[in-house]
Amino acid sequence: MRVRMVKKQFVDGSTCQKCVQAEELLRRRGLWERIDQVVWANEGDASSEGMRLAAEHQVELAPFFVVEHAGETQIFTSVLKLIADVLSTPEKPAAAAAPTFDATTLNRELLHEAPERIVARALGQFGRECILAFSGAEDVLLIELAVRSGHPFRVVTLDTGRLHPETYRFLERVRSHYGIEIEAYFPNAIGVQELVQKKGLFSFYTDGHEECCRIRKVEPLGRALATARAWMTGQRRDQSPTRSDVPVVQVDPVRRGPHGEPLVKWNPLAEWSLAEVWGAIRERDLPYNPLHDQGFISIGCEPCTRAVRPGEHERAGRWWWEETTKRECGLHVAKPGNVQ
Ligand code: SF4
Repeated sequence: MRVRMVKKQFVDGSTCQKCVQAEELLRRRGLWERIDQVVWANEGDASSEGMRLAAEHQVELAPFFVVEHAGETQIFTSVLKLIADVLSTPEKPAAAAAPTFDATTLNRELLHEAPERIVARALGQFGRECILAFSGAEDVLLIELAVRSGHPFRVVTLDTGRLHPETYRFLERVRSHYGIEIEAYFPNAIGVQELVQKKGLFSFYTDGHEECCRIRKVEPLGRALATARAWMTGQRRDQSPTRSDVPVVQVDPVRRGPHGEPLVKWNPLAEWSLAEVWGAIRERDLPYNPLHDQGFISIGCEPCTRAVRPGEHERAGRWWWEETTKRECGLHVAKPGNVQ
């Protein structure tokens, strides 16, 4: 089941009070976690997602809720009716949803396997229900292995709006090189607008990167993962202190699947070093982001990434003004307030 709440924002930027009250009620009842996504209906923008949903379902009131379950869609314009008819029924316990998937045993089995075999194992089981998270850096190796596995898969990227021009061009290059679709997920326009209006375009240099990353990366990733049962990342243990115990496969400790079931997270490169990844990219003559030739190793958003000097750790160029242990964008760790 997927529940979306459509909230309204007026042209002066204020939020509809009924929407605020409905959210408060859901939070008080401990039901806010059951809302999978908040969508904004921007009064001044007929193309905003919420306005489009309102037109599609001929709804004039705000807030309203779109509930999708077993191929059917229901619309609720009353939060009380939503609670009574939908949210008061407990979700199926997560552990019961996937009784046959034993990530701990599988992780032990695959621990020292080649990434090719891990990718094939993941896609053989999940196919297009597994999404590859492509950041426009060396994750291209995952796409190469996925293509070679012969199994179906999806590729998702987060377009934060702050990527380097080289990264955008590289994404297009990968798209045409493999002839694949790369699904771009964008941040919620209202969220970005509010942040920029309130704090400007570079608040992360003084406030820390968490708020901006939550809006531009974590929430869109949550939307992408709400369409999947598994996902695959290019995380490696040698990338940073925060990734030193990344398993090859695990039940995602942070997020859940579209029906509340466990989401399986695959990290086929967990055991590999940076040198091994680049050895494979060179050997196979894979496309790569030209920024790598300018001293960039780990590449994220333009304002938060810089080239590293010889001998510096690869993550030294990410959020360099913050402490090493805080240099995660929230995609792989639980943070209070993350929308997932
Ligand atoms: S990496 Fe920087 S610009 Fe990108 S989302 Fe995070 S804080 Fe914002």
